[in-house]
Parts: sequence; structure tokens; C-alpha cells
Amino acid sequence: ILHKYNDKGEEIDEKGEPIKQGANIKRLFKLAKPEAGILMVATFCLFISSGCQMVSPLFFGKVVDSAMKSLDELSNTVLILVGIYILNAISAFLRGWLFTLSGHRFVARLRKHMFSTILKQEVAFFDTSRTGELCNRLSSDTQVLQNTVTVNISMLARYTLDMIGCLSFMFYLNPALTGVLLSVIPVVSLGAVQYGKFLKKLSKDFQDHLADGGTQAEECISSIRTVRSFTGEEKATSAYSVEIDKSYATGKKLAFAYGAFQGIIGLLVYGAIALALWYGGKLVHMLLSLSFQALYLYCLVSFQCIALVFQAVGASVRLFEIFDRIPKVPNENGVMLASLEGRVNFKDVHFTYPSRPDNVVLKGVTFNVNPGQMVALVGPSGGGKSTIVNMIERFYDPDDGMITLGGMDLKTLDPQWFRRRIAMVSQEPTLFACSIKDNIAYGKNATIEEVMEAAKQANAHEFISSFEEGYDTMVGERGVRLSGGQKQRVAIARALIMDPVILLLDEATSALDAESEHLVQEAVDRAMSGRTVLVIAHRLSTVRNASQVIVIDKGCIAEKGTHDELISKDGVYKRLVLRQLTAGAPLLHGD
Ligand code: ADP
Repeated sequence: ILHKYNDKGEEIDEKGEPIKQGANIKRLFKLAKPEAGILMVATFCLFISSGCQMVSPLFFGKVVDSAMKSLDELSNTVLILVGIYILNAISAFLRGWLFTLSGHRFVARLRKHMFSTILKQEVAFFDTSRTGELCNRLSSDTQVLQNTVTVNISMLARYTLDMIGCLSFMFYLNPALTGVLLSVIPVVSLGAVQYGKFLKKLSKDFQDHLADGGTQAEECISSIRTVRSFTGEEKATSAYSVEIDKSYATGKKLAFAYGAFQGIIGLLVYGAIALALWYGGKLVHMLLSLSFQALYLYCLVSFQCIALVFQAVGASVRLFEIFDRIPKVPNENGVMLASLEGRVNFKDVHFTYPSRPDNVVLKGVTFNVNPGQMVALVGPSGGGKSTIVNMIERFYDPDDGMITLGGMDLKTLDPQWFRRRIAMVSQEPTLFACSIKDNIAYGKNATIEEVMEAAKQANAHEFISSFEEGYDTMVGERGVRLSGGQKQRVAIARALIMDPVILLLDEATSALDAESEHLVQEAVDRAMSGRTVLVIAHRLSTVRNASQVIVIDKGCIAEKGTHDELISKDGVYKRLVLRQLTAGAPLLHGD
């Protein structure tokens, strides 16, 4: 079931009506359910320590009494008092420890669940969601919930307990007057609930702006080189400041609301006390007033806790949004075959990126790739070649038409199963911040021998061995910087170790030095042999060797055939080749 939300962040039903917040609070408690055992023990300890604190003054008086009587009785009473203190210390320790522990357990579980849910989403989801925002949900929204479980639940329980004690004492002193004084409670409660709702909305705004600021900061810091080179620091700082100012503005409102709330309640409560005093200035009324004052303080703090629970509900709305999201392209379940046949068919495939609905990218693409064939995709940039390649990995589903793999509709196959049999080498491969060995073995738990064999096939073994730490050399942000050609060869090794049935290749357009180019080309040629290969080709030598050249232009197949067939026609392909030959550019596709 997909949950929907209106602008105010309230969950709405089919008809657009807001759903009672109770539902969200219930879900929050459900999420905390595995902590129930620990929380129960912690609450029990809370009762014990509160009890100890209540009875210890009683024994204090007894100590004085027994000191008058005999030394024996004195030591006995002191012993009991010490016992109470020890019990208090132990239960206070357990209470503090267990509440905090359950909060950490809760948030750790929440984060893991959240992360795996994010990773299950279809690729199009990541086209529209910003990385920073998603990371923010992982860190700060979950943090708010942790505070609810640890701080608030424990405080709420404690103050409720104190309140009950206080009330009983007041009732014992003077039931009638207590009734009069307590008449302000409903007024205050009503105010507290409204205040809580208000706080929830504000704190959601606050979190949103903070998240936007976080996104800005992350983007800027991760591309510091570009920022520095274009002297974009000031621009970045002011963009960040805008978001922070927005969250500060909300913070100001929150602060004012907090103060006003305290003031108004104070006015109400002290008014009630004055009333009681006016009613009769007897000692019992004084006592009553004093305990009412204490009650007022308890009320204030517990209302604050309730308000914070509302705030947590606000944060949870954003988490539930992701939890409830069903990926448009599933990431698991489907048919697994004994083996995958390297046959790829596109049947009248139409496609538009969900993030750009006005731009139709594929307009009825049909082609067949037979097992073992090497097919080259060529054409002007922006024509849709990468989109076709991505669709073979089922990063996106066609809007119309069908893609089959080994004769099976791609939608019926288990995505993880077929993706393990397809490998992709992109133009600018991403390597992870780990050792070269772990990068090569990313798609498969491989032995070091397998890693080395793949690296040898990819012409990477030699340069890797030349590093002091060999295959354990770290790459990425804090490791060695590999050259473009080296990166590509590591990426080829990473693909080869999977022994893929189908190889998807995006030939590098960036000019490598002659030596590197030769090594990469040799590695690519070796990688291609014996598999079905789809290559976005930029080199004339590649298209010459292809069993089939498919020219993609503006989302359509302009021409199809072998290099020789297409050259003999006077079409797009011939023009592209001629332009390359005359301009001497290494690219087959022009811009
Ligand atoms: P080619 O590989 O032939 O250069 P692409 O498949 O990369 O072409 O792009 C085809 C069209 O799809 C272009 O108009 C491009 O702007 C658009 N496009 C590519 N990727 C995305 C994306 N993730 N979201 C929205 N539009 C995209």
C-alpha cells in the first residue's frame, strides 16, 4: 500500500483527507516493538528508583527518631537507608543504561532497514531524489526518533509517576480545593495538544531546510576541485546560507512558541494558585499551593515531552514515505533459468525518462542481437545509445514494447540473477574507495588467484604489481590516483571476473596516450571474445569488426547492417565515418 501526504506533511487517504496521527504514533510504537522487553525492564527500574527517592526522606526522619532511642536501632535504620540508596543507585544505573541502549538499538535497526529500502528503489528514483537528502533522512530523521525512544519515553514515564504522587498528596490534603485547582488542567492540555501539532509542522520545516542545506554542502564539498577552479566558494557559501537562514527562521519561531507556551501556562497556573490563596490563607492551602506548583512543573515538562513525541511523528512521516515506497522496477523475484542465452531483442521499445516526461528518448526501437555477436551502437550523442544499454540491465522499464533476454521477457526474469550474468564497462568507470583487489572482486567473492587472472586478462596485472602494496593498494579518495587507462583496465578486470554472458561496453572517448590506448584495446578485444557484446562504439576499428552496426539517431534506428553494407549506402553512417576520417577525430559520433 502506498501512503500519500499533503503539503502539510499529514498523511492522507484516497479522498485526500488527512489520516489521524494516531496511526503514525501506532506505527512508531510498532517499530520500537523489539525494544519492548528492554523498555519494560527500564521502566520497572524507573519505578524502583522513583520509589526509593520518595521513601528516603521518610527514613531520614526515622534516623533522627532512632538516634534518640538506641544505638542499635540507629545502625539498623541507617543500614536500611544505605540499602535504599544502593537500590536506587543500581536501578538508576539500569534505567539510564537500558533506555539509552534501546534507543541505539532502535536507531541502528531503523537505519539498516532504511538503507536497504533506499537501495531497492528503481534507478529512476535516484534521478529525482538528491543524494544529500537521502543521506539526511538516514542520519538526522532517524536521530530524532532515537531521542524519542531514549529521552522522551523515559522522561514521560518518570514525570507521569511524579504527577500521580503529587496529585494523591494534594487530594489527601483537601479534595475539594484540589478539584478547583485541577480545573485548569483540561485548558492546559488542550493548549498542549495544539502546541504539539504546531511544533510538529515547524520542526518538519526545520528538518527540511536543514536537509536542503546539507545537500548543498555535500555537493559542494565533494566537488571542491571544480568549486575552487571556478572560484565558486562565495556562491556556494551564500547558497548554503540561504538554506540555513530558512531553518534559522523556523528555529526562531520555534523558540518564540516555546517561550509563549511557558508564559501562558505559567499565567494560568499561578492564577489558580492565587485563587486558592485568596480562598483562604490557611496553612493547608499554602501546602496545597506548593504541591500544585510542583505539579505545574511536572505538567510543563511532560507536555514538552508530548510535544517532542509529535515532533518525532513529523520526522517519521519522512521515513515512512521511503519505507512504504514500492520500487517501480522490482529488484528481486522472478524466473531463474539454468543458464542465460546471450540473445537480446528489442521489440518496438518506447521510452521516456520519468524525470523528464516531455523528452521522448526512444521512439520504437527494434533490433536483435544473436548469441556471440558483437553489435556496435553508433550515432550522434543524445540519440539514446546509453539509454538502450541501461535498459538491458533493466535500470528502466520500457513504456511500450518489450525487451527480451535469451528469449524471455526481461520483466519476468529475476533481476539479480540476470544482472550477475551481464557486465558493464562504462567510459568513466567508478571505482570504490577500497583495495584494487576488492574493486576487481566487487561483483563476486573471488580468490586472489581469480583476481590476478582477471587482471592479467585485462592488461592490469603489470601496473598493479608495480605498486608497493600490489593488489592491496587502496584506490579512491584517500588512495592512489589511477590514470584513465588504468581505471578502465581495472573496470575490465571487474567485468571479466564475472565471466558474463553479455558484455555491455561504452568505449572511452577521452583520448588516452598511445601506450595506454593499445593496452586498453587489447584488453577489450580479449574481453569480447566468446560473448555477446553490445558496444557503444567510438572507434572505426570496432565498427569494422562488428557483426552488426546499429545507427541510433533521435531515438530511432536510422540504419542497420554491417560496416561494408552501410558504407555502400549514402546515409547517416557514411557521413559519420567520413567526418571522422576527414576531421581525424577519434570519435565516431559527433556532437
Ligand atoms: P547517447 O548515449 O546516444 O549519447 P543518451 O541515451 O545518453 O544518448 O541520452 C538520450 C536522451 O536522454 C538525451 O536527451 C538525454 O538528455 C536524456 N537522458 C539521458 N539520461 C537521462 C536521465 N537519467 N534522466 C533524464 N533524461 C536523460
